[in-house]
Amino acid sequence: MEKERQIIHMDQDAFFVSVEIRKNPKLTGKPVIIGGGGDRGVVASCSYEARKYGIHSAMPGRTAKLLCPQAIFLKGNMEEYSKASHEITEIIADKVPLFEKASIDEHYIDMTGMDRFFGCMKFASELRQTIIREMNLPISFGLSINKTVAKIATNESKPGGELQVTYPELRPFLDPLAIHKIPGIGHATYKKLSEMGVREILTLTQIPQQLMFKILGQHGLSLWQKANGIDLAPVVPYRERKSIGTQATFESDTMDMAKLKAIITGMVTGLTFQLRNQKKLTACITVTVRYTNFETVTQQERIPYTSLDSFLISKAHSLFEKVYSKRMLLRLVGVKLSHLVSGYEQIGLYNIAEEEYSLYQAMDKVRNNFGAEAVVKACIVTQPPRDEKGKVIKYNPRKKKVLIENTSSEEEEKEPEIRKRSKIRSLMSEKGTIGTKSYD
Ligand SMILES: [Mg+2]
Repeated sequence: MEKERQIIHMDQDAFFVSVEIRKNPKLTGKPVIIGGGGDRGVVASCSYEARKYGIHSAMPGRTAKLLCPQAIFLKGNMEEYSKASHEITEIIADKVPLFEKASIDEHYIDMTGMDRFFGCMKFASELRQTIIREMNLPISFGLSINKTVAKIATNESKPGGELQVTYPELRPFLDPLAIHKIPGIGHATYKKLSEMGVREILTLTQIPQQLMFKILGQHGLSLWQKANGIDLAPVVPYRERKSIGTQATFESDTMDMAKLKAIITGMVTGLTFQLRNQKKLTACITVTVRYTNFETVTQQERIPYTSLDSFLISKAHSLFEKVYSKRMLLRLVGVKLSHLVSGYEQIGLYNIAEEEYSLYQAMDKVRNNFGAEAVVKACIVTQPPRDEKGKVIKYNPRKKKVLIENTSSEEEEKEPEIRKRSKIRSLMSEKGTIGTKSYD
């Protein structure tokens, strides 16, 4: 039964800023902005004090400066934020058997069935205190019957809050809230509904479902359900295996570095496009090569959370140079991005100008409309890879010069999830307590 689930949503407060304050406590209580420096940067994150001036992420830095001239702009350090993120995940993984890493600073925990052994609220509160103590970073959480309400509860409790919304409290909690508090409501949807006079969740619940479908399609239906406190989405276990990847097998083996690197560039470009489309970031990149004698070698590197082409292409190239150590023909190269989480707010941390940010968005838009190969990096166009006879090889999977395979691991994950759930249950019934680290 929906009302019997117990879902915790935990979210770090102003995560990037808090990591900066931990390093330099003098920043406490000041309007701090991460990213957005220089003339054309965009804001990656900002403190609650800065938010009071109407500043928000993805806003051009110069607009932020106009709104709050005394704001302190910091470049930001994704490496540090990623490290803190991994440490928080480890603390949670130590304490709970079933959790999902939803973004760089957000986790969902499914406590269903465990409330018989200890109160979920007490457990969540203690976990929050542990994270505050061990990380020295502020965090809030919400506890409710599903992910959507738990997340709304977290947001309402922020900063430094804890909030439980039980099944009977659902309506009094949701009804008076503004509709933009529903996670996933976009700017266009908000505008459309607000023009119809729908501003509070209560009003949204009173619109007939069919009408919502007529106005906003499937998204409208999903919004209507969320407004009504209905969300059946499961907590999907976080596993390091979650990945997207692609590999190319050559018709004739090659050791042409220019060609191989161009192919890798094309692969990374395709994968980052997928990442950004799914609003995801990766924290690990793997490059695989298979020699003509079928010997297969891989090289992997943990990286700061990102979805940017330029960073990942240079990483992939340097990994390729490391892994391709023998002067032997290659029959296959592959690139894999793993440790995926939701997010895209890190733009601006790599000193990316607003124009480049817009360029990525524009390129993705073209690809969405005309296919993944509609736009390619100039290096692939201006320095076309050539075969042994000097003939130009086009990176085109349909021509079957190279055979491209998608190696996404999303599907094979479904099964173990069920097994793990039953493992958790059996752990609980055997010991009457939670087993720690039932998955890696
Ligand atoms: Mg947060």
